[in-house]
Amino acid sequence: MAEERFDAVVVGAGPAGSAAAYTMAKGGLKVALIERGEFPGAKNLFGGVVYRKQFEDLIPEFWKEAPLERTIVEQRLWVLAEDSAVTFGHRNNRYKEPPNCWTGLRVKFDQWFASQAEKAGALPIYETVVTELLREGEKVVGVRTDREDGDLYADIVIVADGVNSLLGKALGVHREWKPDEVSLAVKEVIALPRQTIQDRFNLEDGEGCTIELIGQTCGMAGLGFMYTNQDTLSFGVGVMVSDLKKQRVKPYQVLDGLKKHPMIQRLIQGGEVKEYSGHLIPEGGFDSIPPLSGDGWMICGDAAQMVNAVHREGTNLAVSSGRLAGETALKAHARGDFSVATLGGYNAAVRESFIYKDLKKYRGVHGLLGMDDSDMLFGKLPDALNEAAYQMLLVDGVTKKDKQKLAFSQLREAVGGKNLDLLRLGLKGWRAMNG
Ligand SMILES: Cc1cc2nc3c(=O)[nH]c(=O)nc-3n(C[C@H](O)[C@H](O)[C@H](O)COP(=O)(O)OP(=O)(O)OC[C@H]3O[C@@H](n4cnc5c(N)ncnc54)[C@H](O)[C@@H]3O)c2cc1C
Repeated sequence: MAEERFDAVVVGAGPAGSAAAYTMAKGGLKVALIERGEFPGAKNLFGGVVYRKQFEDLIPEFWKEAPLERTIVEQRLWVLAEDSAVTFGHRNNRYKEPPNCWTGLRVKFDQWFASQAEKAGALPIYETVVTELLREGEKVVGVRTDREDGDLYADIVIVADGVNSLLGKALGVHREWKPDEVSLAVKEVIALPRQTIQDRFNLEDGEGCTIELIGQTCGMAGLGFMYTNQDTLSFGVGVMVSDLKKQRVKPYQVLDGLKKHPMIQRLIQGGEVKEYSGHLIPEGGFDSIPPLSGDGWMICGDAAQMVNAVHREGTNLAVSSGRLAGETALKAHARGDFSVATLGGYNAAVRESFIYKDLKKYRGVHGLLGMDDSDMLFGKLPDALNEAAYQMLLVDGVTKKDKQKLAFSQLREAVGGKNLDLLRLGLKGWRAMNG
């Protein structure tokens, strides 16, 4: 690859990178989109739910041609004890028209999305690893790749290389993430006949359902998930790395444990595991967002810790941040100024967007999980909630008042034994969820 000059180079063809490349190429810039995988999506993994709004901001009615699995009409939350669950959920046909979100598989979806950037004019450079940033003084002026003669020069480099972001580290904008800023997720794709999936989840053709799982993670901070695709289920669990280290448990052991739960067993029975993979999720939240731009560069998506773990949203934050970085690049190009004075407009745009506002709202959640008492939140409390529900619904001659007292005392015991502990946790939870 001969030394080449571009208006912009994008590193990483995940949702953030492809959105940035699409925006800039559509705006007439000469763009290179570099991806280390054999093709976009080859290295990527998510649960995964794709949300309409932010992709549609870029490509209207994209879902009519994008490879998506099922339109989600129902979202459930199961709080698990060993062999029972307290269940919540919401089903609504209004989620179909217009669609709110879908299940998807990254291998197909990322390829399609990157192909849109390509169609808009971006040059795809795949199976190529960016090894370092090229600089002139403090200014980033291009990238070095692992190809022979693989230096690419550009006015702007957009860093969208995901959670491990070697380039983010090279820029000095973030360090190695701490074990309590990332969770490690494992996922299986389990094949089942389409009709079996629809019967088990109470769905019509094309309709989908998601289930988030709390509890039964060996007392570690983590969440399980079970999503319906056309002919497969996506089943996985993500656990905070700090807890995995402390407890010396492997994430696949947690997944195997979850599989034994009778309600899960029933859903996956007879299925064949087609894929198994693992990936990190950035969960540091608002306070882990690094500086977003400098002279000649911007950073977006997972590389900038833009994940809303409470609502399992990541792809939509990635695609929006990529679009905002792309739009800022277009302004910079028009002005002929690629310094932080202009690229800093990207920081301001992110600050005005739902990305910053939503992450700020849940700013305290990271602290709540860092209470060093994952066993209470993800073990004892789900167990106590299940026991309280069991007792309350059991008709055994005990008066309702006594049952209520018992349920309350079980919850109190789970959080420390005193009424004040329950109150404190409630307050902490409220604050964590409200900025
Ligand atoms: C288990 C799991 C479940 C999830 N569930 C959901 C969900 O249901 N809904 C949701 O919205 N989000 C979900 N997320 C989060 C979502 O996947 C991410 O937030 C999103 O993919 C971030 O996009 P990105 O483009 O920033 O990074 P990525 O998708 O990670 O893309 C980064 C790309 O950069 C490439 N790359 C890295 N380094 C280099 C290099 N040096 N040179 C060239 N290329 C490079 C990688 O190969 C990759 O293709 C989940 C994540 C996980 C792990």
